[in-house]
Order: sequence, then C-alpha cells, then structure tokens
Amino acid sequence: MNIILLGPPGIGKGTQGDIIAARFGIPKISGGDMLREETRKATTLGQEIKTCIDRGELVTDIVVMEIMRQRLRRPDCKNGFILDGFPRTLEQAEALERMITIDLALNLTAPRKELLARMAGRLTCRQCGGIFHVKFNPPKRKGVCDKCGGELYIREDQKESVVIKRLEIYEKETKPLTEYYKKKELLKNVNATGAIEDVSARVQRTIDDFKKGVKVHGK
Ligand code: AMP
Repeated sequence: MNIILLGPPGIGKGTQGDIIAARFGIPKISGGDMLREETRKATTLGQEIKTCIDRGELVTDIVVMEIMRQRLRRPDCKNGFILDGFPRTLEQAEALERMITIDLALNLTAPRKELLARMAGRLTCRQCGGIFHVKFNPPKRKGVCDKCGGELYIREDQKESVVIKRLEIYEKETKPLTEYYKKKELLKNVNATGAIEDVSARVQRTIDDFKKGVKVHGK
C-alpha cells in the first residue's frame, strides 16, 4: 500500500504515520524529517532549507522532489510506504504521480483551535524525529525520547507566529490537494480530533475498509 497522509500542520500526521508504519511494517517517509536531515549538513543548500523551515515557508519543489525521488527508490519502499507532509503542492503531487502509484490519500481533519493547542506543546526528538507533547503525549522522562533516548526540543517553526503562517500556506498551497485526490477517488477523510488512540483506531478502520473494497495496485 502506498499511502499519503494529508492535513494541516499540527494535526498529528507524524504521530499517526509512525503508528501505521509500525502496524504494516512499511517505512514512514516525512518530508519535514528528510529536509531537517539536509539542514544538518554544512552545505549552502542545507542552510537555505533551514531558513525556509524556520520561517515556516515551503522549500522549493525542485529540491523537495530530488530528495524524495532518491528516498522512494530505496528498497524498503518496495512493499509500500506512508508519506507524511509530502506532497504539499500540486506540482509535487503531479511529479509524484509520474514516479509511482498512490493507493490512498488519508486526509486528517480537526478544528483550527485544536491544531494550535497541539502545536503549542509539541516536542521533537533531535535524533529520530519522534514526536511528543507536554500534555497530550508526554515522554516517560522529561526531555528524553522514549524511542531512542535522544534529546527532545521545541522546533523553531512551532512558535505561534510561524505556526499561523504555516497554516496560511497550508490553506493556499496544500489544501487544494484534497480536491486533487478526491477527483482521483483516492481521498478518505478521517476525523483527527481527540486522543491519539481514538484517531489511530479511525485511521486503521479507514485503511481496513479500503483494503476490503479495493484491489491494491499490482496485487
Ligand atoms: P513538517 O515536519 O511536515 O511540519 O515540515 C516542516 C517544514 O519542512 C515545513 O514547514 C516546510 O518548511 C518544510 N517541508 C516539509 N515538507 C515539505 C514539502 N513537501 N514541500 C516543501 N516544504 C516542505
């Protein structure tokens, strides 16, 4: 199954993506994580990407596509993958379609108020990109990632002014993708309000229903 996770920043795509990936034994590929990895390299491109991310702006399609193209070629994607935060523009969606078949686009939805609350207390692991929340999903030890023991930090782009800008960019650039995948009959909306386990149960049901009803490509 080749799955895309759509939805505004802060909705919990990363968290749900990790759960689906573990359940199906497929990799979760996060556009944000891949780009943050690039920023750790001491290159001009890395610095340019960091500036975009810290300001809450999108990285250019050409750069994103090159990084994702290389990632999707890796052998672990052979049996499927889940994409989190990619594609984020129509251009990326069209380029992705030329590269690979997508089976399902899950669109996570929640009111704006809930998104702002979730983003406000979010913690990210420097090492593995794991996501926690001071209130909704606290780590067992303060400041330490449960998964890998890495240091947890608050991302620069999680500040309120940047968050609001990211939501605006989402509305303009990324939200049209829901129409795009709806027309292709690949879109399933999932209510992402409430506890992580409740959302993941809804996500799981949606995937199970889809698998029952539709032949997965190539199978
Ligand atoms: P995320 O971790 O998904 O919240 O993404 C963090 C930031 O990485 C975004 O605000 C963008 O600056 C950048 N980014 C992630 N994915 C993409 C993408 N597909 N296209 C452009 N920029 C992206």
